[in-house]
Amino acid sequence: MQHRPGSLLHELGHYVDNHHSPGLLGQEGSYADCCMDRPHEAAALAESVGQMVAAYGLRRVYPSVSYTVNGACNLGSLIGNMPHNVVDPACYPGVARFGDDRVDDTGPGGCNKSDGYHMDSVHQAFWELLWGRSCGVVGGTTYCSGMRAPDYADRWMEALLSALRMGNSQHIVQLWDNMEAFIAEAYPSDLALMQHVRQLHEIEALPHAESASCACPQLDGTCG
Ligand SMILES: [Zn+2]
Repeated sequence: MQHRPGSLLHELGHYVDNHHSPGLLGQEGSYADCCMDRPHEAAALAESVGQMVAAYGLRRVYPSVSYTVNGACNLGSLIGNMPHNVVDPACYPGVARFGDDRVDDTGPGGCNKSDGYHMDSVHQAFWELLWGRSCGVVGGTTYCSGMRAPDYADRWMEALLSALRMGNSQHIVQLWDNMEAFIAEAYPSDLALMQHVRQLHEIEALPHAESASCACPQLDGTCG
């Protein structure tokens, strides 16, 4: 564990995860294979959720931290592990896409749990939501608009807590679907922002249903 507040808040994130189902994401089973958009991703998702909780904690506990992390553009320097650039016109390389940083589906041993630490797309997306920022890319140039007060971040933590209560066998896109369902119900005026952010970072299930050909069972033993 690295000695920085983000690491402490990351570990707190595991407590939050453990408390809300109850149990940790991915605790149900170990898998011989790694299937995308299946519960196999849940163990990696647990580390990603740790980072999301850390991002929320930093936003709320240290309100002087700027959106671009005091100009360093490096969200990773706050929440630990590999560098993750914040999406901002001043930051390169800009937008991380989920298709590029999904959990590792090659090799034996199930999904690579540690991939969850540096899922840039997911962490950038959550950071944007915590700030109520709407970013995009036009003609290769990143733009961002909007900026909300720190307490605005609470609704996104509520959404995460609501999603965590849905169980420990969720895959990554499913967790975001569950967060979105909560927002649609509780904060419908934020739904468009969430959908925009998900689209920007491409947090969506694989279009060609790669997981359907994955020769491994779901938790209930079926292969649907
Ligand atoms: Zn962790």
